[in-house]
Amino acid sequence: EGDLITCDVAVLGAGPGGYSAAFRAADLGLKTVLIERDRVLGGVCLNVGCIPSKALLHVASLISQADAFREHGIGFDTPRIDLEKLRAHKDAVIGKLTSGLAGLAKARHVDVIRGRGVFRDARHFEVTLAEGGTAVVRFESAIVAAGSEAASLPFLPDDPRIVDSTGALALPLVPKRMLVIGGGIIGLEMATIYAALGASVDVVEMLDGLMAGADRDLVRIWEKHNGPRLGRIMRQTKVAGANAKRDGLHVRFEGDNAPERAEIYDLVLVAVGRTPNGRRIGAERAGLALDERGFVPVDRQMRTNIPHIFAIGDIAKEPMLAHKAVHEGHVAAEAAAEKPAYFDAPQIPSVAYTDPEIAWTGKTEDALKAQGLPFGKAVFPWAASGRAIAMGRDEGFTKLLFDPETKRVIGGGIVGAHAGDLIGEIALAIEMGADAVDIGKTIHPHPTLSESIGMAAEVFEGVCTDLP
Ligand code: FAD
Repeated sequence: EGDLITCDVAVLGAGPGGYSAAFRAADLGLKTVLIERDRVLGGVCLNVGCIPSKALLHVASLISQADAFREHGIGFDTPRIDLEKLRAHKDAVIGKLTSGLAGLAKARHVDVIRGRGVFRDARHFEVTLAEGGTAVVRFESAIVAAGSEAASLPFLPDDPRIVDSTGALALPLVPKRMLVIGGGIIGLEMATIYAALGASVDVVEMLDGLMAGADRDLVRIWEKHNGPRLGRIMRQTKVAGANAKRDGLHVRFEGDNAPERAEIYDLVLVAVGRTPNGRRIGAERAGLALDERGFVPVDRQMRTNIPHIFAIGDIAKEPMLAHKAVHEGHVAAEAAAEKPAYFDAPQIPSVAYTDPEIAWTGKTEDALKAQGLPFGKAVFPWAASGRAIAMGRDEGFTKLLFDPETKRVIGGGIVGAHAGDLIGEIALAIEMGADAVDIGKTIHPHPTLSESIGMAAEVFEGVCTDLP
């Protein structure tokens, strides 16, 4: 039996959900312990997710922007890529953020315990300490924030050239030919990075469309722009198996659009979704219920079936997004402090930081149609945006969806450069209950891409009529 540590709140896992919950709990005056198995704080998002992928996507965007202006009189040499320096840059970005988090934890007197924790019962975690030995943490409340891990395809051979997103972000090489299995956000972001670095990238997706969850009209613009940049995009196709040989991975496909013979790749990324870590925390010893996929079911206060144990972030439910985890973390910490907090989000933005970016929030048009619900819609094409034209990027559009009676915004989608940064305004509009007039009469700076949101609202009102 190791040291006994007692606290008000014990948080398991220091990803965006866990550190946000721990910081909020400490700010509310609770004695807080944060248990993390990894050397640094930040979880998947900071170390092997959101941040490193965006550091590399920025580089990808520099390369493709330079390339795009060749025909407008600005030519650059073929980029010389120093992978070692690029890796060091990415690691430095991560390092700045993780050390910042360590400072924030210290300033709040959050007791960070490095080690792998599992429930011993409904009042204790048992932690196998990184430095050796064990500790037992006794808590009044626990917040489970142990995240998720990449799902694998067990029928693929065990080969270093077959990687998950973590392996791909490590930038082992720039392959000549790469296969991305799974056409979701993570797969397509990685395809964007590797294609810009010079790889020929094929994408295979089991479903009939890429980027599930996004409206098809947004995805079509992405497809048109990326058709020439990527290799084959195989929809409704499955990977049937692969042989690891010296000259590459020989991958076999099945389905209507499948190549007849095996294709050979130097690198294969498996991006087929993520599995919650519910089965890895000793849940049964606390009597904690799990669903069949390994999520820990929660109510609107993020409470599990054991009322003083909360679950947040990727382990609690989809969508698996950092900003959702942060908000849930705040709710759980406040509920643990007996404040009346609830997670009841009318909108959670999703962003694919591809090129062009695709961002959407609130209700989607395809879901409203599928449910047979009435809605109003307005689209502002970026072909009418001075700024988009000046940037040479007028392929995108901004779409707003309205409640037909109240004219309030209920959803929106943007495809185009910087769509992810623009979607925040629509998020705010939905949260504030803004209607089309509120948005249309808001003076947006000219010439900016954000104007497109005001213009879309005016299109809905019938005020904006000078579209191409
Ligand atoms: P995690 O970040 O998974 O953190 C869980 C933590 O718990 C980890 O640090 C883990 O080490 C620790 N842990 C687990 N089990 C134990 C244990 N038994 N004992 C001690 N510690 C434990 N989301 C976005 O919003 N935007 C993006 O751009 C984005 N890009 C992504 C790109 C990639 C390649 C990937 C893989 C994910 C991306 N995501 C993105 C998703 C995002 O990373 C997750 O939604 C987010 O990290 C979830 O946070 P979390 O706190 O629930 O868990």
